[in-house]
Amino acid sequence: KDEVNIISGALELRKKSVADVMTRIEDVFMLDYEAILDFETITEIMNSGYSRIPVYEGNRQNIVTMLYIKDLAFVDPDDNTPLKTLCQFYQNPCNFVFEDVTLDVMFKIFKEGNKGHMAFVSRVNSDGEGDPFYETTGLITLEDVIEELIQSEIVDE
Ligand code: ADP
Repeated sequence: KDEVNIISGALELRKKSVADVMTRIEDVFMLDYEAILDFETITEIMNSGYSRIPVYEGNRQNIVTMLYIKDLAFVDPDDNTPLKTLCQFYQNPCNFVFEDVTLDVMFKIFKEGNKGHMAFVSRVNSDGEGDPFYETTGLITLEDVIEELIQSEIVDE
């Protein structure tokens, strides 16, 4: 039964796009580039439970880098380290994909590994009167794709 599910899941990957399974931008836990890594902020990061946290500058659409939880290993909450200092030190890159990329293609990109296992999802917004612009609509990880492949939720530890 599991095998049948995986095979049909694999065949379905071509029919679904990144936008169908991403975590929407409103629901993404992010940090402001100007944040201070004091006790309160570090507690909030730990409580979020995520291992990778996008960092934005100015507004939430403008994601500039990523913070890995492991980057916090040498941070003392009493030092009130600016997040900026850590970001400049680690300079973790972020990757973008368009929201109409299909999940089989997304799976290949993640599998190749050189782009990490998380990507931000963007689209061209040409709804209004003005010039079209890029907009960030969400975030996708390898886990989101694998859940489609096995057609069930992965319960996080
Ligand atoms: P983690 O390693 O943090 O558990 P996973 O890659 O296992 O992240 O993803 C688990 C789920 O959480 C996925 O649905 C993914 O889209 C979502 N996710 C990952 N990071 C964040 C974040 N910073 N804010 C909101 N959702 C996230």
